[in-house]
Amino acid sequence: MDDQHHCPTCGAPLRIKNRFVKAVTCEFCQNVALYDGVRLDPTGRTASLAQLKSPLYLDATGRVGTHAFRVLGRLVYEYEGGTWQEWFLDIGGEKRAWLIEDEGAFSLLQKRPLAQAPPFAGIQVGDVLTLADREVRVDEVGEATIVSAEGQFGTLILPGEAIAYVDGASGDEEVGLEYGEREVELFVGRPVDRADVTVDPDPFS
Ligand SMILES: [Zn+2]
Repeated sequence: MDDQHHCPTCGAPLRIKNRFVKAVTCEFCQNVALYDGVRLDPTGRTASLAQLKSPLYLDATGRVGTHAFRVLGRLVYEYEGGTWQEWFLDIGGEKRAWLIEDEGAFSLLQKRPLAQAPPFAGIQVGDVLTLADREVRVDEVGEATIVSAEGQFGTLILPGEAIAYVDGASGDEEVGLEYGEREVELFVGRPVDRADVTVDPDPFS
């Protein structure tokens, strides 16, 4: 993989950190670019940085359960009930996952293929949807805005976007749908005990 690139807005060197990355923020000018696997295209969006308390940070390494991870990026979502954060993780250099942090509670989710998304309009709490071969009971429906971002992400849902979301459960699995401007994404995973998320000491602090 030719991972050495330059920010299309300011020209700063920019290295793509894993093969699942679809969007990057420039650490120098905060502009957001889309990555198609070959080149970077500027979006005209910029990503602001919000300082929210978390044990995680950009480029942190650690373990979640038995998986060694490195943080590649962070998205901060704001909704009427507050904020939550989604950390894009490289898992062992081979896989990717999202660690969702919401008021100190963690869930580890992976993106799943979605043949056809159900239309958001009309989905209500209590509905049962069939997603990724699962019966999913809807327990939250809402709208949010990505108010802050840093690093790199395996998603085409970008900083500044307003999204609609559906959260549900299937057995002991958590299932989420995110409706963005460019795509609808499906995530499936499980809650993670806070004690199972360990972050290595920051070598620069
Ligand atoms: Zn830049």
